[in-house]
This record gives sequence, structure tokens and C-alpha cells, in this order.
Amino acid sequence: MLPSSWDIYGPRWLRLNVGMTELTRRLLNNEHPESWGIFDGDVQVGGICAVRGTGGQMIWQWSCGFYPGCDKSQQTAGNADTYHEAKAAFQAAWERLRPQITPAMRDEWRKQQAWTAWKYTMWDTKCRMPTQSTTGRARCFCGTEITTAGIPEHVYAAHMENA
Ligand SMILES: [Zn+2]
Repeated sequence: MLPSSWDIYGPRWLRLNVGMTELTRRLLNNEHPESWGIFDGDVQVGGICAVRGTGGQMIWQWSCGFYPGCDKSQQTAGNADTYHEAKAAFQAAWERLRPQITPAMRDEWRKQQAWTAWKYTMWDTKCRMPTQSTTGRARCFCGTEITTAGIPEHVYAAHMENA
């Protein structure tokens, strides 16, 4: 059994929580590939996506594991003919991976996410990086003064979800 926190989301930026029924319906009504992230809490631990095979048929690809965090040997993936087969294969892989996941592994992934999100927000808000300033100091979009050396600490302290 999967933990109760396990759920399937659409693209993360949509925060779209969909049930199995909707997922199936969307596939049938939509010829475009579908891609789903699978989250355990706030960590994306895998995904299932539909792609067109060379013969035009739909193939379901699944992957289990996350990077950074998991070793290469802990990341698995495969193909399946149906969504349900892909989900079953993912579940089996997840049952193997789950006991190996430590809080430090989750943190590694969350830090990378926070770091990436922070960089994009800095660009989007046209904030300068400390390296772009003659004083070596700049302001984060939140208003805090930052230096190059102090960026990681600031990002993890102020801009990490559920920190
Ligand atoms: Zn900030």
C-alpha cells in the first residue's frame, strides 16, 4: 500500500490534484502526451507520462527516484502498455525505494528545488546578483541584503518551502 500522502499531481506549477478517473479521461480525450509527477509530501519521487511510440500507439513511461538525493542505482524507470501497468510498476519500485529514503535525501532534493526557484524569481523580478554589483552586495527580491557567500544560507532559511 502507498502512504496516504501519496498522490498524483499534474504539472507542479498548476497544483492540479486529479483522481484516477480524471487522469484516464484526460488521456482518452487528449492526443497530446500527458505527464504526471508523483509526490510524497513535497518531494517529487517519480512520474508517469504517456508518449507516442514509433508506431503511433501510446506508451506509458514511469520513473521512480529523485535527483539530487537518490543514487543512480536507486533510480528506476520502465515502459508499460497501460497507465495501470505503469502505476503498478511504479508502486513496486516505490516499495523498494521508500525504506531507503532518508530525511537528508529529501533535503537535498528540496534544497535544489528551492535554489532553482530562487534563481528564477531573481531573474523574473529583475533583481541583481551580488556578483553583478560593484559592492559585492545586492538585495534579494524579499528585500534582504545578500552577499554571494550568504546566498545559500538565505535561500534555505527564507525561501525553502516547509523549511
Ligand atoms: Zn530573500
